[in-house]
Amino acid sequence: MEKPRFKVIIIGASISGLTLAHCLDRAGIDYVVLEKHHDIHPQLGAGICLLPNGVRILEQLGIYTAMESMFFTDRFGRSFSCLERRDLLKKLYTELRDKSRVHVASKVVGISTDEFGISVETEIGTVYHGNLAVGADGVHSIARSEMWRVAAIQEPGLITDKEKSMICAEFSGVFGVSNPIRGVKNWQSVTYYGEGLTILVLPLRENSVFWLVISKLDRKYVYPNIPRFSRGDARCICEPLASTSIWADVKFGDLWERRRAFNMSALEEYMFEVWHYGRIVCIGDSVSKIAPNSAQGASMAIEAAAGLSNMLRKLINGGKGLGKPSYLEINAMLHRFNRAQLQRLEDIHTDSHFLVRFQASNGLLARAYACMAPYPRDFMTDGIVRAVTGAMILDYIPLTGYSGKEWRPLTMGETLVRAKTYYRFVRLLSVTSIILVPVLLSWLVFLQFPI
Ligand SMILES: Cc1cc2nc3c(=O)[nH]c(=O)nc-3n(C[C@H](O)[C@H](O)[C@H](O)COP(=O)(O)OP(=O)(O)OC[C@H]3O[C@@H](n4cnc5c(N)ncnc54)[C@H](O)[C@@H]3O)c2cc1C
Repeated sequence: MEKPRFKVIIIGASISGLTLAHCLDRAGIDYVVLEKHHDIHPQLGAGICLLPNGVRILEQLGIYTAMESMFFTDRFGRSFSCLERRDLLKKLYTELRDKSRVHVASKVVGISTDEFGISVETEIGTVYHGNLAVGADGVHSIARSEMWRVAAIQEPGLITDKEKSMICAEFSGVFGVSNPIRGVKNWQSVTYYGEGLTILVLPLRENSVFWLVISKLDRKYVYPNIPRFSRGDARCICEPLASTSIWADVKFGDLWERRRAFNMSALEEYMFEVWHYGRIVCIGDSVSKIAPNSAQGASMAIEAAAGLSNMLRKLINGGKGLGKPSYLEINAMLHRFNRAQLQRLEDIHTDSHFLVRFQASNGLLARAYACMAPYPRDFMTDGIVRAVTGAMILDYIPLTGYSGKEWRPLTMGETLVRAKTYYRFVRLLSVTSIILVPVLLSWLVFLQFPI
């Protein structure tokens, strides 16, 4: 009789979940994907930029070539690619070899786990049995909540209150897709620095432009009290910006008038320390989320899926998908995975945290930043290069074609010198303005009212 195979239950069929499905398929590991929505690729009005680290893995999986015709190419050659988010999801789904393993309208409501296996229950009452549950279910993750619940029973205090209150938001984003406008060429991205807000414009293909208005919220909100926004809220932010010139003779109103879809959400930022407990592990936005300015969210979700499948494949009978590792072996593997992900993400979170605040600052500093922004031209590139150089790949599929070879990354030394110089410059400017502004004001007052 055939031995039962090791089975992974993936919760969420978005970027992390579908990428993991591809990785497991290529590793010969059994899996099933449960998605709460009926539609895997809804029109949410969002675009997505994949950086070379994400693209390289999709290329290994044979999906990048399939999407290539949709991509827009800029100074990074093929390696920096922007497209509509729903097109990426559509490709990830249609390229799956066995779509019968993806179950839509299957909202997960509970997970039970013991030493021998895992049971995942959906709202419609179906129970799926397996050996490992992977939460790829985004910010409001049920997998994460269930992991915390199980940990609280078995190891009280492991997940601290500080860890649980880590999700917070200081910025919101209105994002939309518009028909193309004259004045923004299809290789050109635009960043507009306003008072307490940033407008990012990225042409996707010949027939669409993705834009994002990032603004500061009135205060820092902590989950679960982070506000939800309506399209009415989005209008309140966008309509007053209609006459704002964002580039040459292009006004924001030109984009707004041509919008095909738009939406608004809080931009949460967090990185949890603990990504696994027992037979539950979380990846992607369920455990780590960065502001969209650095465009690393999706690429890091893809990397996490690849990193997990590398380790799983090694653990399960050297890639034959037949062995049943013990509970302790699974735990040790998940611990190594967790540690590797935290190491990988640390700098990316720091850079992204800085970037969103830098781009959406207000007052005198904002003006100074906006004037300076065009000059340290390589700063953005350096951040991107720094994030890409340490990237993970699938270690069981060979790299092909142009994957990383056409693009010479800066050496670590070069990158650090440039980044550090720039940070020092920005800090110096902040400190100088804090000292100089009061001195200047006192001097003006003195001129007005001499003693
Ligand atoms: C406006 C905006 C612009 C962005 N731009 C970029 C960009 O340019 N580049 C970039 O790299 N990143 C970008 N990001 C971030 C990127 O979209 C995310 O990091 C990425 O989508 C993470 O994917 P995920 O699969 O982990 O989670 P999600 O995309 O949130 O997917 C979670 C999935 O789980 C499902 N689910 C949730 N709960 C359940 C449940 N109980 N049962 C079953 N299924 C469930 C959901 O329906 C969903 O399909 C942007 C984000 C925003 C908001």
